[in-house]
Amino acid sequence: MNKGKKLYEGKAKIIYLTNDKHLVIQHFKDDATAFNNLKKSKVEGKGVLNNRISEYILSNLAQCGIKTHFVKRLNMREQLIRRAEIIPLEFIVRNVASGSLTKRLGIPEGTKLDKPLLEYCLKNDELQDPVVSRDHIFNFEWASKEEIKEIDEITLRINDILVGLFSGIGIKLIDFKIEYGKAWNKDKNQNEILLADEISPDTCRLWDSKTEKKLDKDRFRKDLGNIIEGYQEVAKRLGIMPEMTNVKKVNFGKPNSIKFKKK
Ligand code: C5P
Repeated sequence: MNKGKKLYEGKAKIIYLTNDKHLVIQHFKDDATAFNNLKKSKVEGKGVLNNRISEYILSNLAQCGIKTHFVKRLNMREQLIRRAEIIPLEFIVRNVASGSLTKRLGIPEGTKLDKPLLEYCLKNDELQDPVVSRDHIFNFEWASKEEIKEIDEITLRINDILVGLFSGIGIKLIDFKIEYGKAWNKDKNQNEILLADEISPDTCRLWDSKTEKKLDKDRFRKDLGNIIEGYQEVAKRLGIMPEMTNVKKVNFGKPNSIKFKKK
């Protein structure tokens, strides 16, 4: 697979063309941004961790029959993905109130929602990704009724799978954002909808189940410090990156004195 020209550079990722028109390479950067690019920083190692965490989660989703853009990981920062025409919407699922929901509607942070709440936002940086209704989506033809019906079902299934996956490792999935795209299925000779986004601590709120310690990008947004430690903790609990988590302190003990015989 040859890496070709840069196709697109976003806040946290770069997309490169390949010699196959249906496949592209996704490169995970260490850049962290928040509040629509107002806050920026480099977080060393974030790209590597997100590449691995996202690979793990998308592979698990694929095993459960969810179609995703992920093909294979190429190296520590890059993965091969299917090229997709992105639907210009962000799909947000909330299990517990946090972030913009608390600000917008005054719902207290940490309120458990009776059932998962699905929100749609328009992907538009200038407008700060506003929340939109289904009527907006159909009126302005950002997606069709059939597409939204299919995506809603997939999104809620993904939420079910992720809630289970994280609860097994002592983490509460508070909320997350995903995007979808349309990609060519050569066997069916038609386009199909697939999950075309990373799933990582950059795009999810993840709290430790017992202590409610934040293990996600809110550590960056809210200046809670040690951002990378939260991401490492998620990777460690998922059982990935053993090369990082297996490093043990070596105790050398007391050195023995060496005696030389006098001649
Ligand atoms: O900020 P807000 O509360 O709306 O975010 C909801 C969820 O969506 C959070 O997990 C956040 O990390 C994610 N999100 C994202 N990219 C955006 C907006 C939100 O990953 N542009």
